[in-house]
Amino acid sequence: MKKRIFAANWKMHLGPGGARRFLDAFLQEYRPSSDREVWFFPSAVALEAVVERVRDHSGLKAGVQNVYWESKGAFTGELSVPMAREAGAVAALVGHSERRHVFGETDEDTARKAKALIAAGLTPLLCVGEKIEEREAGKTLSVVERQLGALDDLGCDALAGLTVAYEPVWAIGTGRTATPSDAAEVHAAIRAWFGGRGVPAAEVRVLYGGSVNVDNVGALVSEPEIDGVLVGGASLDPATWLRIAQAGGD
Ligand code: PEP
Repeated sequence: MKKRIFAANWKMHLGPGGARRFLDAFLQEYRPSSDREVWFFPSAVALEAVVERVRDHSGLKAGVQNVYWESKGAFTGELSVPMAREAGAVAALVGHSERRHVFGETDEDTARKAKALIAAGLTPLLCVGEKIEEREAGKTLSVVERQLGALDDLGCDALAGLTVAYEPVWAIGTGRTATPSDAAEVHAAIRAWFGGRGVPAAEVRVLYGGSVNVDNVGALVSEPEIDGVLVGGASLDPATWLRIAQAGGD
C-alpha cells in the first residue's frame, strides 16, 4: 500500500536546540500509524538533532532542504548529497518555490539536484507549481509540465524514485489554498506525465503544499489524488503539527 506522507518544511527556523525541543514535545504524543510517514526537513545544522530523535521510529524520516549536485569541492556554503546522506538524511527538497523564485534556481538546476539524489539513493521531494499570473493566464498545467520536463532524460526506474509536491506559488505562506478539486486536477496531470514515461501512474506519490493547516488538511488528504501534504508555517509548532500529521488516520 502506498503510504501517505506528511512532510514538515521548517525553512530557516529551528536550530538544533529548537529542533530537539520540538521533537521531544511531538514524540510524547505521536502515535505511529501504518498508513503514513512523517518527514522532517530541518535546517542543515539541525539535521543531526532530528536524525537522533527519529531514528528509532520507523515511520519518521529526516531530510534536508537543499543540496548541490557536485559531490565535493570548492563550493563554499553548499551541502553535497553524500554529506547529507552520511548525516542521516534520506530525502531532500528540490525545486522549492523559494529556491526557484528567491534564489533564482532554474528547472535545469533542479533537475541536476534531483539526479544527484536519485543516483545516491535518496528521495528527491520535487516541488512544482505555478505563479498567480501563470494560473490566471490558464498556464498551470504547462508550467508544471515544463518543470517536470527538465527530468525527461531520466529513465523510468529513476523517475519512479521521485516524490512530487504540487505547491502553487500563490498558496505558499499566503493563507490561500488550492481547493482539493483544483489540486486534484494538477495531481492527475502530474501522474499522467509519469505514466507517459512508463512509471505506473497510481504508484507516483504526489503531495499538496501551500497554506495547509489543521482546518483544511482533512479535506485535502481525503481527496484520492492527494497522497499527503508538504507544510511550512503550520509545521513549526509541535501541537499543531501533531494534529496535521495525524489527520485522517486510523
Ligand atoms: C512550503 O514551504 O513548502 C509551504 C507549503 O509553506 P506554507 O505551508 O507555509 O504555505
